[in-house]
Amino acid sequence: MIETELPEELRLLQRSVREFVETRLQPREREIEERDEIAPELLGELAGMGLFGIGFPEEHGGSGFGRLGYCVAVEQLARANASLWNVIGGSVGLCATAIHLGGSDDLRTRYLPSLLAGKTIGAYALSEPGAGSDAGALRATARRDGHRYILDGAKTFITNAPIADLFAVFATVDRDAGSKGITAFVVERDTPGLEIGPNDAKMGLRGSTTAQLFFRDAAVPAAQRIGAERTGFGLALRTLDHGRLGLAAHAVGAAQRLLEASVAYAKGRTQFGRPIAANQGVQWPLADAATEIHAARLMV
Ligand SMILES: Cc1cc2nc3c(=O)[nH]c(=O)nc-3n(C[C@H](O)[C@H](O)[C@H](O)COP(=O)(O)OP(=O)(O)OC[C@H]3O[C@@H](n4cnc5c(N)ncnc54)[C@H](O)[C@@H]3O)c2cc1C
Repeated sequence: MIETELPEELRLLQRSVREFVETRLQPREREIEERDEIAPELLGELAGMGLFGIGFPEEHGGSGFGRLGYCVAVEQLARANASLWNVIGGSVGLCATAIHLGGSDDLRTRYLPSLLAGKTIGAYALSEPGAGSDAGALRATARRDGHRYILDGAKTFITNAPIADLFAVFATVDRDAGSKGITAFVVERDTPGLEIGPNDAKMGLRGSTTAQLFFRDAAVPAAQRIGAERTGFGLALRTLDHGRLGLAAHAVGAAQRLLEASVAYAKGRTQFGRPIAANQGVQWPLADAATEIHAARLMV
């Protein structure tokens, strides 16, 4: 039989993240929405709660809660403005994960502790203007030049780019090889030849910044390569698999909050002399939603 009860330590984690979200994050939601930015001290509070390190092993500075713990925390975090988790997702769910999955011990030691502590912010740069769903067709190049690579090309829609300290960047060492030429690098923000565009104006997800990156003869030390040459596309996909776990948990948490808000409204709104929740036409869709959310949570 499948065990559906969470272990005690994860229930404690769930409770503490939920309380943090309700007392510290939800009161700031409107401000984030209106300003289209998250105040740095709020990111500091998320870091202080250990939320950047959830799901990573303790040896690199993570909290050691594993993937289930990661999903439990993300689901609770999703009860606040979605942009808050997006910053964490882009920084550790993608950038730190790429370094963790494919990086040398040196790269892991150099970058993971500060990323997982929320002291530095990371971003994941795969998409390009001409390579979205078909990311294997990316055109940015990495040309070997002695002990370094020279990067050229553009990246688009990069979450956290306006605030990131470092980027996991995917570029090809051989355009003719298609996805088999793709190679990954850690590129620091202050690398000469890397220009970061302005924050994109989006319709939703306000507070979560995205921007374009432009590489023009940007020299990156060969030691910054994540894994071997030509292994970048597999790494990109494995990293996205991890990221999708967080997206799924986030969708469940957001749906749960909307359901709870809907139930509360239906109980409080009176028409024809009784709460609208007394009508089956209102009860049934709410019951259907509760059932689907429960099933989705079990699938995550
Ligand atoms: C808010 C936001 C944040 C992002 N953050 C990042 C980030 O941090 N890093 C990063 O690298 N990228 C990021 N992206 C880019 C994202 O990964 C791409 O938007 C995504 O890969 C889709 O690419 P596209 O937008 O170019 O759409 P397209 O690939 O042009 O697709 C357009 C539509 O066509 C459909 N389509 C495409 N091919 C097929 C097919 N073969 N069969 C059927 N339908 C198809 C798609 O499903 C979609 O509906 C972000 C995007 C957004 C919107």
